[in-house]
Amino acid sequence: MNRRQKKRLLLLTGTLTMVIGAGMVLGTVYAQTMEQEQQEGTAVQELVLPDVLEEETLEYTEEISDENTEENLPEDWNLILVNRTHPIPEDYEVELKNIGSGHKIDARAYDDFCSMIQAAKKEGVYIYVTSSYRDLDKQTELFEKKTESYVMQGYSYESARKQAAQVVAVPGTSEHHLGLALDIVSSEYRKLDEKQENTKGFKWLKEHSWEYGFILRYPNGETDITGIIYEPWHFRYVGLEAAKEITEAGITLEEYVGAKPVSEGEKQAE
Ligand SMILES: [Zn+2]
Repeated sequence: MNRRQKKRLLLLTGTLTMVIGAGMVLGTVYAQTMEQEQQEGTAVQELVLPDVLEEETLEYTEEISDENTEENLPEDWNLILVNRTHPIPEDYEVELKNIGSGHKIDARAYDDFCSMIQAAKKEGVYIYVTSSYRDLDKQTELFEKKTESYVMQGYSYESARKQAAQVVAVPGTSEHHLGLALDIVSSEYRKLDEKQENTKGFKWLKEHSWEYGFILRYPNGETDITGIIYEPWHFRYVGLEAAKEITEAGITLEEYVGAKPVSEGEKQAE
């Protein structure tokens, strides 16, 4: 091998080493990124608890008005409106009663709730509560964690909050804080989606829940008023009299208590 050939061989070996080296570095970076993504994916998954999924479609707004002031609160505890424009009063206190499987309801609605479940059972309809009272602190914690996860991904705090609000309800604006809202599913289909309306449980509830003081809170086609998509699983206790009147009139709680539609002026997807 002459000098020239030796030089060529050295050059070739050098180039090969560089290429292999670069490949190894790139491979490691790629693996790390994948791992990171997987970890982030897990973290996000853990935060999305089933009982907060329903608020996925709630659009975030910074302008939460404080219409639930003392003068504005209805005298009747059962008619308190909690929605995006009516956050729950900060000092709201409620006595809760256990309804099984870790679920709780406002003690004043307990008897009617039990009567409803029993009546359904007598007719061979088995319904289950999947979400009930939700603590304000718990909701705040969930919301903050979610916001933080978006900040970690590089969002500004502002847009991180907006992103978080797509998945977790803004604390204080979920009706579940009252202890008067229940997500109810039928024994044969337990998912919280529109197909719930085809179940035995929903059909029975639609016909009879008002007899026990409950209304279907977010009916189909009323998103402009309620600010929430059609939820054929979310029922709200309003008391016997109001439930009868609201059902007979075919109106929403917002209309019954004379509140402004939540989405006034905005077009929302349904
Ligand atoms: Zn609900």
